[in-house]
Amino acid sequence: MLGAIEAGGTKFVCAVGDEMGKIIDRIQIPTTNPEDTIPRVIAFFNQYGIKAIGIGSFGPIDVNPESPTYGYITSTPKTGWKDYPFVQTIKDAFPVPVGFNTDVNAAALGEATFGAAKGLDSCLYITVGTGIGAGAVVQGKLLQGLSHPEMGHTLVRRHPNDEYQGKCSYHHDCLEGLASGPAIEERWADKGVNLTERSEVWDLEGYYIAQALMQYVLILSPKKIILGGGVMNQIQIFPYIYKYLLELINNYVSLPDLSDYIVRPGLGDNAGVIGSLLLAKQALQEEINR
Ligand code: ADP
Ligand code: ZN
Repeated sequence: MLGAIEAGGTKFVCAVGDEMGKIIDRIQIPTTNPEDTIPRVIAFFNQYGIKAIGIGSFGPIDVNPESPTYGYITSTPKTGWKDYPFVQTIKDAFPVPVGFNTDVNAAALGEATFGAAKGLDSCLYITVGTGIGAGAVVQGKLLQGLSHPEMGHTLVRRHPNDEYQGKCSYHHDCLEGLASGPAIEERWADKGVNLTERSEVWDLEGYYIAQALMQYVLILSPKKIILGGGVMNQIQIFPYIYKYLLELINNYVSLPDLSDYIVRPGLGDNAGVIGSLLLAKQALQEEINR
């Protein structure tokens, strides 16, 4: 049995399952502080004989195995989780291989293995929710360099009529600053879920997302782009994304039919947790190969 932790800013989803991504049991635990949340995570896995655990975590996190703070959540504003030794805490409770990556990289792996990008050796998974983040599978492997990608903070051109200052305290008018769920809520003074009928909201949302996708397409040339996260439940955004992306690309690169290229997650809300099971499987495999 493998264990999976999808650690999000609002909730942790823990699951046990097999190497084929089949989930056997799962629970959700609110993300409060480590003293409350982690013992509940440990209690859940204690019911099972776990061979390995995969963690897909909110970030930024340290994924560099050479680093003294490998396995830490690093610079989050969330109380209690800054400089948090996540991997070591889990290893102290369970002496098994532990895989560690971002929540969106885990989701990209899940989608590339069993979801909308199944059979492809490259895909991009983007979540548009409380924050915006993206993970990528490139040539069959999760994209990692100095650290993990932070594509949600890509700069975008502000719409000439958009006077909203931006929600990102680091960059103001990056994609997350202008298009995350909290940015929508602050700009339009209502929650996204209540704005479904306001086409100008989703037109502007598509305008910003398309600009970021333009950059990702030019730089990474992914074979599939998957858009998840709460905001993307507003499926009327997709036609705006297609329209603006086509305008921006201006036939410079040829892309597949966009309705087949830029899609919703094949695994629905389970992309991250199934991807985390796969991180556990990889960690186990690496241990065996060592
Ligand atoms: P998280 O990012 O915390 O893991 P979500 O992906 O659900 O969780 O993102 C939450 C954000 O998405 C909130 O800002 C919320 O207002 C927004 N959101 C969630 N569901 C919807 C929806 N159906 N329509 C529009 N916005 C939504
Ligand atoms: Zn930013």
